[in-house]
Amino acid sequence: MKQNILDLTFIELNNAIFDLDIETYRARQIFHSVHSGKSDSFDNLKNIPADLKKILSKNFSFEKLKLLKDNFSPEFNTTKFLFETSTGQKIESVLISEKDRNTVCISTQVGCNVGCEFCATGKMGFIKNLKPGEIVDQIYQISKFTDLKPTNIVYMGMGEPFLNYENMLTSLKILTDERGLNIGSRRITVSTVGFRNKIKKFADDLSDEENFKIKNVKLALSLHSTDNGIREEIIPTSKKNRLPDLYEELIYFYRTTGTKITYEYIFFEGINDSDNDIKRLKKLSSMVPSNINIIPFHPIEFQLNKPLDIYNSHTKDISKFLSKDKLNDFITRLRNQKVVVNLRTSSGVDINAACGQLAVLNN
Ligand code: SF4
Repeated sequence: MKQNILDLTFIELNNAIFDLDIETYRARQIFHSVHSGKSDSFDNLKNIPADLKKILSKNFSFEKLKLLKDNFSPEFNTTKFLFETSTGQKIESVLISEKDRNTVCISTQVGCNVGCEFCATGKMGFIKNLKPGEIVDQIYQISKFTDLKPTNIVYMGMGEPFLNYENMLTSLKILTDERGLNIGSRRITVSTVGFRNKIKKFADDLSDEENFKIKNVKLALSLHSTDNGIREEIIPTSKKNRLPDLYEELIYFYRTTGTKITYEYIFFEGINDSDNDIKRLKKLSSMVPSNINIIPFHPIEFQLNKPLDIYNSHTKDISKFLSKDKLNDFITRLRNQKVVVNLRTSSGVDINAACGQLAVLNN
């Protein structure tokens, strides 16, 4: 089976070009043309002679995602995209445009087997890991379709990036390569629910001299509770990846990379907003330099056609999960304790494109 040329880092492409007895200076031109994102076949690669295109098409495939649907929310200036992979699975990605910032939220897996309570993707189960080319092509396709240059990339779409670790890492190398899209690593955030040994490994990989182009990639931990028991109800994998172990790895991450941590925290009134939660968040925020993003809960039960278990076990009243007053009060209580907190907006909630709502359940 031919390898998809979009999956290769520059070094891998360079080696392959060498093995094919092609002058190695061509590797740079080919990589640039493939990852400019504008071409969708060997035939329309720019600055590549016809005989070389023939050799490339004989030895590699050129598999792009197919854009099936785009759904724009004027209220939030947010667009959700539905793509199909060359193997027929569907994934979603989101573009959020604000002032001079175009943030693309990308997927790393089709479905996900972590099963977080608040997340529609988790209800799909795991279907497959995306290849590096399928990860980066989401950005190329969105950029081409909208004619907007992506300024920030967040690995927060469908799937758990650390469960598709190698492909995620390869995609980072491709996106930050100056011969391709050349996105600054400070503008990329990878979000994870946290797995033992993986945060440490990520820190080691980012600080490896060979990977200097990705060294400033940011890490976000989906925290959602500072109480491991409650966290287990929200994120089932927390049973095996307990908070004290994750904290140890976050300290290692900061000491190794020098990059501050972001904590993602979905507000669930009556579940993760007690005075003890405030105390523990204050302690956590002084553990290493960090900031906490408070995220409003985005309902998904109408996508699933059933209520979430967490409603049943804690409260039958969904309005509690959606109370803006309580959420603002929680933020004020945290700020009174000098905790650095940002309120994340609900961009795209009206088109099911907000945090937790991505899933190919009813498209
Ligand atoms: S939040 Fe992330 S890790 Fe959890 S189920 Fe959804 S995609 Fe998977």
